Amino acid sequence: MARIAVRDDLKALEGYHSPHVSVRVRLNTNESPTPPPAAWSDAFVAEVSRIEWHRYPDRAATELRAAIATLHGVDSNQVFVANGSNEVLQTLLLAYAGPGRTVATFEPTYQLHAHIARLTGATVIEGERNDDFTLDLAEARRVCETGNPIITFLCSPNNPTGLVEPESNVREVMAMAPGLVVVDEAYGQFADWTALDLIDEETPLVVSRTFSKTWSMAGARLGYLVGPSWLVAELDKVILPYHLDTAKQIAGRLALRYVNEMQARIDLIVSERERIQSAFASMPVHSWPSGANFILFRPTSISGRDVWRRLVDRSVLVRDCSGWPRLENCLRVTVGTPEENDAFLAALQEVLA
Ligand code: PMP
Repeated sequence: MARIAVRDDLKALEGYHSPHVSVRVRLNTNESPTPPPAAWSDAFVAEVSRIEWHRYPDRAATELRAAIATLHGVDSNQVFVANGSNEVLQTLLLAYAGPGRTVATFEPTYQLHAHIARLTGATVIEGERNDDFTLDLAEARRVCETGNPIITFLCSPNNPTGLVEPESNVREVMAMAPGLVVVDEAYGQFADWTALDLIDEETPLVVSRTFSKTWSMAGARLGYLVGPSWLVAELDKVILPYHLDTAKQIAGRLALRYVNEMQARIDLIVSERERIQSAFASMPVHSWPSGANFILFRPTSISGRDVWRRLVDRSVLVRDCSGWPRLENCLRVTVGTPEENDAFLAALQEVLA
């Protein structure tokens, strides 16, 4: 059978891969190490049993949007919900990027920002961060002036570095960006400030968030953004009708009843993160300060790739970033349960000994 050629601009693109290796301790995809509270599961099962499956879901996800709006003290029409924050970002890029338009990223950062932008046919201008991975404001100005980006991406805390973008940087980028500023806060709840407080109707700023991490619901594929209502109205035009199934809308709405339980999980992850960082201090490892549920680190005595392999031999899987641009020898570990973190630290100690 003859193969049909894909669009010319997609030929050079590679897909996004996260290798699946069967191990006992999986600390490679920044998920929550624990399932949602049992009370959530019970309430979910009860409501799902009453779904009218022959009917389409509520197209506007009215109750879920209202619940998210209440959580953040905004209006429902300032909330857009989709299948994971990846679909939120894709919708945003379909609406505002596309051929003839430019999107700015500051590397290294979450690869999907540039990847999805390219899928829409947009040109991506990749600014460089400082050597310590903080944002270089002079570079940001250069990128904004030369590229005239319609969307400028920030990511706070940034994946894969873990660094929180200080509020002053976000404000400076907002002042210099000629278009929309997107702050990807997939890990926002682990950090000490949020750009959600900067959202208003007059400012071309949006913040994206996800249920995949703090809310222990990576399996549900649910994410959202908060932004001005005029922007949300454009996204509503672009997204497919009935994109959010009824069960997912229930899952998200019910999860928001468990804010206290979620906060307890965040507190535990943050204290475990600090414990791992302290352990790193006495190992031949350089690590970056993290405001997220993961830590980027670079072994200094053995190559990152070898450390990754030897950890897999000990049934511990972390993310191998060593082949990514600007991240030579780097690995990224997700903060797990105390037991998983113990297993990781013991294995790493052995590998580096
Ligand atoms: N943004 C960032 C920075 C991420 O790391 C991730 C998950 N890897 C996402 C967005 C996408 O998350 P999801 O689609 O699960 O909401």
